[in-house]
Amino acid sequence: MAEAVKVLVQSGDAAEEVLVESSAPLASVVPGEDPAVLAAQIGDQVVDLTRPVGPAATVRLLRFEDAEGRRVFRHSSAHLLAQAVKRLWPDAQLGTGPALDDGYYYDLHLPEPLTEADLARLEQAMRDIVVESLPIRREELTREAALQLFQARGESFKQQIIERIPEGTAISVYRQGEFVDLCAGPHVPNTGVLAAIKLTSVSGAYWRGDEQQPMMTRVYGTSFPTAEALKAHLDRVEEAKRRDHRQLGQQLGLFQFRDESPGFVFWLPKGLKLFRRVEALSRWLQEQLGYEEVMTPWIYKDTLWKRSGHWDHYQDDMFLIDQREEHLGVKPMNCPGHAVLFGSTVRSYRELPVKWAEYSPLSRFERSGALHGLLRVRGFHQDDAHLFVRPQQIQEQIREVLELIDRLYGLFGMQVEVVFSTRPQDYLGDLETWEDAERQLSAALADWGRPYQLNPGDGAFYGPKLDFNAIDSLGRRWQTSTVQLDYQMPLRFDLSYTESDGSRVRPVMIHRAILGSVERFVGILIEHYAGDFPLWLAPLQARVIPITDDEADRGREMVRDLRAAGIRAEVDDRSEKLGKKIRDGQLDKVPVLLVVGAREREVGTVSVRSRAGDSGVYDWARYVEELVQQAALPLARG
Ligand SMILES: [Zn+2]
Ligand SMILES: [Zn+2]
Repeated sequence: MAEAVKVLVQSGDAAEEVLVESSAPLASVVPGEDPAVLAAQIGDQVVDLTRPVGPAATVRLLRFEDAEGRRVFRHSSAHLLAQAVKRLWPDAQLGTGPALDDGYYYDLHLPEPLTEADLARLEQAMRDIVVESLPIRREELTREAALQLFQARGESFKQQIIERIPEGTAISVYRQGEFVDLCAGPHVPNTGVLAAIKLTSVSGAYWRGDEQQPMMTRVYGTSFPTAEALKAHLDRVEEAKRRDHRQLGQQLGLFQFRDESPGFVFWLPKGLKLFRRVEALSRWLQEQLGYEEVMTPWIYKDTLWKRSGHWDHYQDDMFLIDQREEHLGVKPMNCPGHAVLFGSTVRSYRELPVKWAEYSPLSRFERSGALHGLLRVRGFHQDDAHLFVRPQQIQEQIREVLELIDRLYGLFGMQVEVVFSTRPQDYLGDLETWEDAERQLSAALADWGRPYQLNPGDGAFYGPKLDFNAIDSLGRRWQTSTVQLDYQMPLRFDLSYTESDGSRVRPVMIHRAILGSVERFVGILIEHYAGDFPLWLAPLQARVIPITDDEADRGREMVRDLRAAGIRAEVDDRSEKLGKKIRDGQLDKVPVLLVVGAREREVGTVSVRSRAGDSGVYDWARYVEELVQQAALPLARG
């Protein structure tokens, strides 16, 4: 006999207690049979709504808005795709079809490669199954029965999967209409909820990622509960594509990558202006906070790398050189050089904190498959600095770093998110030191006053750390700044300073980079601004356009005036039509176009077309002054 149980049903922010029979399906606790509820969570397990309530005390209802609900939705969409494939190509064989962050894929073995037209047919077949609104049912089978089922259906890849499952294990399959798939689940209740679907791309993948195995066709797709949500997503994807920094870098003539040096950037003049401008901002802000810049060697003997620990833990990521009798390594980071420099003389507590910045080139041996435009390179520069501080100075120094992050990201109109990672299981050093450091970090964060996410146990074994995500204009998160406390490097290099009482004390080393890699940061900025850099940042701020060759000399004169006033300017003195020059200026995303014709030349004026929308005819000298003001840093203006 069924027994009644009291269940706390959590739905979004609301919770309600209901009395229900334990044998009833979970769907029976969904208020108003809300079709937006896709699955349920009991404890940390996500389950189908067709499962019985059982002895559960608390049930969380999952919708598309919940990450877990979204995964169920996307994975169910993968089944939908597989079912459509089997309808169109009955001989196709099923591989596996997982959910992804913003979609899903299914690996299939097909008799022939898919064409564009095939994808359109496939999408239509999927829509048909959505309209059929087939119930999705879970069934549990013995391993033997499951093997027989998929043998009978000719699914050899599914048989391979079952053969790897230990004997005696119960196996679940999911059925929707004529289709059946081997799957642990869970799934949405019926195909009807998978309302808006889109297949996005096709690629190849070896079965089990093994080159010895057959090549499968991997079909990617995405899906949403409504057509509007799908459209908004596809628009965002298009917008991100439009902003791709590799495309814009080429189009705007900023940088190149070439086979001659994979993973290293060829900066073109405009791109380097952008790079130097960003670097200069970092220098300028750090100088205000008393940082001093040093430049240390970029190649060291293996003895240094052994001492720093890189030889044992980082060698695979380094460029190594064996030259005659010498074993050398190119630096992937500046820390060991700074430690050597700090230890080169006797230091007093009065000198601390020592704050050394360095912008030297660094290189890391990234695998060629991991390289990605400016975002993942082998040769780069960081706005790197190491702070050597007294243990009691941690809090104030971290507070200052947080201030620096605010000021730098504020310039670009970006918000930051911070994650605070604390002592891991395998920490080195004594507990008291760790607790003191974490207390000072928390205090600095509290004083800063922003919310932060705590990641307990996720710090490095040598100290706690803060990681920062910058949020761009599309709402995408980019991991950029890191602030890492380090008690081990000072120990390895036996660093110390004389305290006020004459004792020798070990300093704490703080590694921090605010932009991270400048290359990567420039890549992020290109996408953040879609190449439409604000006037103060644009590599080329103004282009003077003489209407005819008669005004070319006047145009060059104007460029001289602008450059003398500190404006980055050039003249377009090609013998092209005015309309073409203006269009090119817009394509090159130059913030200000300055047109000069016979009339302007005669009376000393300029006709302005700015991206910001202001246009009109201005007195030349007065306009230059105004432009200088507009081009000032947003910081100085505020
Ligand atoms: Zn499944
Ligand atoms: Zn470092």
